[in-house]
Amino acid sequence: ALEVTDTEMLMRVLRPTLAGRSGGPVHKYTRGVVGVAAGSSRYAGAAMLCVAGARAGAAGMVRFLGEDDLARRVVDRYPEVVAHTDPAEAGRVQAWVVGSGGGEAAGARLERALGDRVPVVVDADALAHLPETVEVPALLTPHAGELATMLGVDRDAVEADPLGHVRTAAQRWRTTVLLKGARTLVAHPDAPVRVNLTGTPWLATAGAGDVLAGLAGSFLAAGAHPLDAGSLAAFVHGAAATAASGGGPVTAGAVAEAIGPVVTAWRNGT
Ligand code: AMP
Ligand code: MG
Repeated sequence: ALEVTDTEMLMRVLRPTLAGRSGGPVHKYTRGVVGVAAGSSRYAGAAMLCVAGARAGAAGMVRFLGEDDLARRVVDRYPEVVAHTDPAEAGRVQAWVVGSGGGEAAGARLERALGDRVPVVVDADALAHLPETVEVPALLTPHAGELATMLGVDRDAVEADPLGHVRTAAQRWRTTVLLKGARTLVAHPDAPVRVNLTGTPWLATAGAGDVLAGLAGSFLAAGAHPLDAGSLAAFVHGAAATAASGGGPVTAGAVAEAIGPVVTAWRNGT
């Protein structure tokens, strides 16, 4: 079965997520701390955009883990981010985002994140380093090419049957898989696949996937189930892209900036 993600479903998720996990008074730790271990000196922009997505979501704090120069650049750009360069001293997080623009370090970062036993978003380069079984709640965020590599099939095969392949991956890893594309699909082994219909072809632009991964991680850290975090992120990301685009080209950075106003407008019912 298929389910189209809609605002009503998402507001059900968003309300408790924005209210924090405890039910008691809200503070930054009840809202959740999201750790971003993304980017590399080669793909510094991926780190920035993943952090931009993470800080636009529901979490109360963003931590960044990466090389010295990169960590400095992230904090220069986003002073509210707490940056770490030593994986052993990266501090507590409620969810990790790993892989976006991760290059060579992606495998080690993934292992580090999985060791924390908290939910994790696995994107891009880190997808090639997935263990056979993932023991934590996970959201895998491949595009068609990455999903093809994960499953050992051709990209054409995934594009011909995206639904079949995203289901296969969800079964194989017993976890949530979000297949990016014009119609993003979110599959969990025990639930109907969710289809996202927000967005615009202008969203097919470098860095858009990094923003999505960060945003999904933020919802995970705030306590959403990976299936909800993934569908909510795809929905909000697409709507933000449409708002920022206005029918013309849009940058990934502009999509991230549009996320806050889009969520606020829904909350206010406008
Ligand atoms: P990535 O492949 O990691 O750069 O992510 C690309 C982002 O753009 C994902 O959020 C996709 O869902 C989105 N995207 C790609 N192609 C299209 C399209 N034709 N229409 C709408 N969104 C798209
Ligand atoms: Mg990508």
